[in-house]
Amino acid sequence: MDRSRLIYRDGLMAGERILVTGGGTGLGREMAEAFCALGATVYIAGRRGKVLEDTARAIMADHGGKVVAVPCDIRHEQAIAEAVDAIWADGGALTGLVNNAAGNFISRTQDISPRGFDAIANIVFRGTFMITLDIGKRWIAEGKGGNVLNILTTWVWNGGPFTVPSAMSKSGIRAMAESLAVEWGSHGIRFNNIAPGPFPTEGMTARLAPGSDMDTEQERAGNPMGRVGEMTELCNLAVFLMAPGAAYVNGQTIAIDGAMYQATGGNFSSLRQWDDARWDAARAMIMATNAKDRAQRTT
Ligand code: NAP
Repeated sequence: MDRSRLIYRDGLMAGERILVTGGGTGLGREMAEAFCALGATVYIAGRRGKVLEDTARAIMADHGGKVVAVPCDIRHEQAIAEAVDAIWADGGALTGLVNNAAGNFISRTQDISPRGFDAIANIVFRGTFMITLDIGKRWIAEGKGGNVLNILTTWVWNGGPFTVPSAMSKSGIRAMAESLAVEWGSHGIRFNNIAPGPFPTEGMTARLAPGSDMDTEQERAGNPMGRVGEMTELCNLAVFLMAPGAAYVNGQTIAIDGAMYQATGGNFSSLRQWDDARWDAARAMIMATNAKDRAQRTT
């Protein structure tokens, strides 16, 4: 995130208290940094405690402010309740929640085990709902408004071949947001979604383009803008949707992908050409990444 390219004034987010799930890495880290740079208090959640601590320290070193690491596995309601209790005890109610945490990997759907399906659906579909429910109930009980931003994918509009559990889960979260935008609107709680195109991150590259790079010549050529996304561009949209001045925007999903979804479908349909050997190699690389990440988890 490049502060000089954020389009907002200093202090825009002062007084905001925002939890970013998956805020220790990738897109979540970038958005957490932008909220902090503009004056918000930011909580970042994930399963790898040290990753969160390192990120919180790095953001505060660059921008000052307050970023708090909150180790939490959103697959478990009890862990969510304890993490959110700790946030409320630290300074009162959150004003915003960014549901960014996710798991995903490419696979032929006929090769996915029930465990593989659950690994994605329990984070993205179930975990996102559970943390939204926990925080939403507190907002309603306390008569406080709130603001929820979900990070989706463009395949909520046209399906996700080779990423079916993710496509199903992200589509479910879009339905959740559109439903609760109406149901909880009278409580002052609003919901919006961002559907990013390619923003290369270590986490997603390892499982969606294993052994490759999300920023290849082929990727760039397929995008009408001829490039992948820049993190500050994503942050500018996320800040807009999370800022108090946009409080009448509710129930919307906005793509930020250079019109790649209109041009190409924006999904992994090209993997239809892969043979068995290519899938075996991809699976081995994804499993190695998973084992490495699991070894770092503290929750
Ligand atoms: P990433 O760095 O792998 O981010 C995923 C984050 O989620 C990690 O920080 C991970 O931390 C956290 N997480 C996973 N499972 C969790 C759990 N059970 N409880 C709590 N936290 C959990 O990948 P990314 O590319 O930044 O992706 C971020 C979001 O953007 C995702 O929703 C993804 O679908 C979306 N997106 C990304 C792109 C892209 O091009 N990068 C495109 C479209 C959509 P731990 O492992 O420490 O728990």
